[in-house]
Amino acid sequence: MKDQNKEINTITRLLDDEPVGMTVQVVRVMGDGAFRQRLLEMGFVRGAQVTVLKNAPLKDPVEYMIMGSHISLRHSEAAQIEVTDKDAEFCDMEDAFNGIVETAVAGVDPMADNVLRIALLGNPNCGKTSLFNQVTGAKEKVGNYGGVTVDSKEGWFSFGGRRVQLVDLPGTYSLTEYSPEEMYVRTYIRDNHPDAILNIVDAGNLERNLYLTTQLMDMNIPMVVALNMWDELEKSGDKLDIEMMSRLLGARMVPVTAYNGHGVKQVLEATMAAIDESEQETLHHNVNYGTLVEDCLKELGAMCPDLDRYTVLKIIENDQHALQLVDGREDAEQIKKTASEMRQRIERDFNDDITSIVTDLKYGFVRGALAEAFMPNPERETGDTKPGYSMDKLLTNRWLALPILLVLMWLMFEATFTLGAYPQEWIESGIGWIGHWIGNAMPEGILRDLIVDGIIGGVGGVLVFLPQILILFFFISLLEDSGYMARAAFIVDRIMHRVGLHGKSFIPYLIGFGCGVPAIMATRTLENRRDRLVTILTVPFMSCSARLPAYLLLVAAFFTAKQGLILMSIYLIGILVAAITAIIMSKTFLKHDKTQFVMELPPYRKPTARNATIHMWSKGKQYLQKMATVILAASIIVWALGYFPRHEGQTPQEQIENSYMGRMGKTIEPLVEPLGFNWQMGVSVLTGAAAKEIVVSTMGVLYTGEADATEESASLKEKLQTATKPNGEHVFDPIVAYSFMLFILLYFPCIAALAAIRREAGTKWMIFEIFYTTGVAWLISFIFYQVARLF
Ligand code: GDP
Ligand code: MG
Repeated sequence: MKDQNKEINTITRLLDDEPVGMTVQVVRVMGDGAFRQRLLEMGFVRGAQVTVLKNAPLKDPVEYMIMGSHISLRHSEAAQIEVTDKDAEFCDMEDAFNGIVETAVAGVDPMADNVLRIALLGNPNCGKTSLFNQVTGAKEKVGNYGGVTVDSKEGWFSFGGRRVQLVDLPGTYSLTEYSPEEMYVRTYIRDNHPDAILNIVDAGNLERNLYLTTQLMDMNIPMVVALNMWDELEKSGDKLDIEMMSRLLGARMVPVTAYNGHGVKQVLEATMAAIDESEQETLHHNVNYGTLVEDCLKELGAMCPDLDRYTVLKIIENDQHALQLVDGREDAEQIKKTASEMRQRIERDFNDDITSIVTDLKYGFVRGALAEAFMPNPERETGDTKPGYSMDKLLTNRWLALPILLVLMWLMFEATFTLGAYPQEWIESGIGWIGHWIGNAMPEGILRDLIVDGIIGGVGGVLVFLPQILILFFFISLLEDSGYMARAAFIVDRIMHRVGLHGKSFIPYLIGFGCGVPAIMATRTLENRRDRLVTILTVPFMSCSARLPAYLLLVAAFFTAKQGLILMSIYLIGILVAAITAIIMSKTFLKHDKTQFVMELPPYRKPTARNATIHMWSKGKQYLQKMATVILAASIIVWALGYFPRHEGQTPQEQIENSYMGRMGKTIEPLVEPLGFNWQMGVSVLTGAAAKEIVVSTMGVLYTGEADATEESASLKEKLQTATKPNGEHVFDPIVAYSFMLFILLYFPCIAALAAIRREAGTKWMIFEIFYTTGVAWLISFIFYQVARLF
C-alpha cells in the first residue's frame, strides 16, 4: 500500500488549464470541506481519468467526463484539481482491493414496529422514482434531471400476502450529510431504521454509483442492489458477471429495467428474502479497508458498540455530525481522543489526508471488484460519439446554444398561451354560463351575489389558468426527460452565477413570465435549499402575464410614442430588481455554501408521453388542490370587503367607494400619495392582491361603473385620461402612470403565488415576501415619482 504514494515525479498541472479533448489523470483535489468532499465522491479521486469535453458557450462552466458520467464544473472549481498525464504512473489503484469482511449482526424482528419498511436509495437520476411507481402503482414524477425528488414519498404494496411500505428517498451521491438531501437520507435511515435497503444503481455507470453502495453496506441493514437500466447496459454490449459481482461485494444483485418493469418482481423477492433472513443472526458484509483501518474500526467499534460501522468510520474521519452522536456520553472524550490518534496514524501511514484516504479506499474497492466482474465492450463508442451527442454538439454550440434555447423557450410559451387559449375560453364560458344559470335560478340577495361574484368569480379566475399550467408542465417534462434541461442550466450558468445562483434557476424565472405559481413549483428541481429560497423569493419580480392588462391599459392611455419600449422597460426593471435582490440575499442572510456547483449532465434520453402526462397531471392536481382552497377564501374576503356595507339605490361606483374596501383605499391614500396615486388607485392595488388582473377591473368599476372593463375598453381609457383631482389637475400623466406600473410590477405577489411560496418555503418566508415586495415597490415608485417630478 505504501508505494501508492511514491513521489510523483511527473509535473502536475491544474485541470482548469487543460485544453478541450485532453484526457488526464487526477492527482488530488485541493481545498477542503464540503466542496472537496463532493468532488472526491463524484469520482475525482487519485488516478481517475478525466476528459475535457467542452466549454459552455459563454466559456464557463466546462463539461468533463469522469467515470462515465458527464459533469459540469466552473473554472474556479476545476482550478482546485491537480492533474497529470494520463499514463503517468504514480499510484497503483488495484492494490486497494481487499475484498469484504463479515460482521455478525443480531437478528431483528422486522414486524416489531408493525410495518415492513423498505427504503429506496441511490444516486440522483438512477431510476428510483421509476421503480417506485412500478412497484406501488403510484404516479410520481420522474425526470432525467438531478434533484427531482427532494423529499420522500411513501407508497404501499402487497407482496406474498404482506403489506409493505416503500419509501422513495432523495437521490444522493453519498451520505456525508453535506447537502440537505444527504442529511435527510442519513437521518431517515438512523431514525426509521428501515427493514431493508433497496439500493438502486445505474448499471451503465457502476463505478460512481457503487460508491454510495460502499457506504450503505456499512449501515449493517439488509441490502439488495437493483442493477437498473439493465436494458441500456445490454444494448451497450458491456458485460457484467452478476454472480461474481455479488460475491465480491457481498450483496445480492438483481438486474432491473425499472421503466418497463423487467426484474421488478425478482428484486422484491430478493429484498423480502433478505428481510426474512435478518430475523436470525446474520453475517453482514462490509468493505474491507485493509489491516490498519480495520484494526482501528474494531478497536473503536468496541468502545461504542451501539454505533454502526458507518458512524464509527465517520468518527475516525472527524466528521462533525458523527462526532455529535457521541457527545454527551460518559466516555465521549476518550472516544474522541482515540479517534484522533487513529486518524493521525492512518494519515501518517498513507501520507494523505483522511478524507481522500477513505474515498480512495472505497473507490479502490469498487474498482477492484469491477476489474474482476465487468467487461466493457471493446468496440463501444465512448464520450461524445454516443447517441445524442451529435445533437449535443448543436445544442451546446458556442454560437447556436443561446439562440436555440431562446427559440425553444419562445415555442414553449407560444404553444402554452395559444394552445391554452382554447380550453381557457371554454372554461371561461363554462364558468360564465354556470354563474348566469345560478344567477337566474336564485333569488336576488347576498347569497346569490356571494355565490356568483365571490365564489364562482373568484375560483373561476384561478381555474382558467389550469390549461396553461398543464401545457407548460407537459413541455417542461419533455425538456427534463430528454436531458435538455440540464444543458439549459449548463448554457446559462455563467449568467446566473453573476447573481449568485446556479444555472438551474433559469427555468423557474422563465416560467415566471407566464405565471408565478408554476414557476415557484418548478424550483423543486434545484438541489440546494439556499438557491431554491433565493429563486422562490425573486421569481415574483418576473412580470407575469396577469399584470399585462394593466400595463397595456396605462401605456395605451398615456404614452403615444415608443410604447413597446416603455413596456419592455417594465419587464427589464423586474429582472433588474430580481437580480439585485438575489445578489443582496446571497451576500447576506442566504450565503453560499459550496456544494452546489457540481452538476451532473445526464445522458440524452427519449422522453415518453406517459411520463409527461403523469407530470402534467400531478402538477395540475397540486395547483387545484392547494391553490383553490386559499384562493377561494381570499376571493370571498376581497368580494365581501367590496360588497359591504350595503346601501339601497347606489350605483356600483358609489357602492365600492363606500364599501370597506373603498374606505381602506381612502385610509391608505396618504401612504400612496407620495407615489402619485389617488385613493382609486389605492383600492385597485388592494383588490389586485387577490389576482393582478383585478387591478384593471377595479379601475373599471371605480371610473366607469362597468365591472367588465378591459384594457381595450375605450371608455375606461378616456375616463383615465380625463380624470381630474378636486383642484382641477389631471389625476394621470405619464409619470403617474409609469409609477403605477412600477408598483403593479413589484408589489405583493398575488395570493396564489403566496400560497405557493408558503408551500415551498414556509409561512415565515411568505410573510417576509409580502413585506419585502411591497416595500421595494413603494420605495422604487416613490423614488421614481419624486425624481421625475423634478424635471
Ligand atoms: P430518480 O431521480 O432516481 O428518481 O430517477 P427517475 O425515476 O426520475 O428516472 C431518471 C430517468 O431515467 C428518467 O428519464 C427515466 O425515464 C429513466 N429510466 C428509469 N429507469 C430506466 C431504465 O430501466 N432504463 C432506461 N433506459 N431508462 C430508465
Ligand atoms: Mg426521483
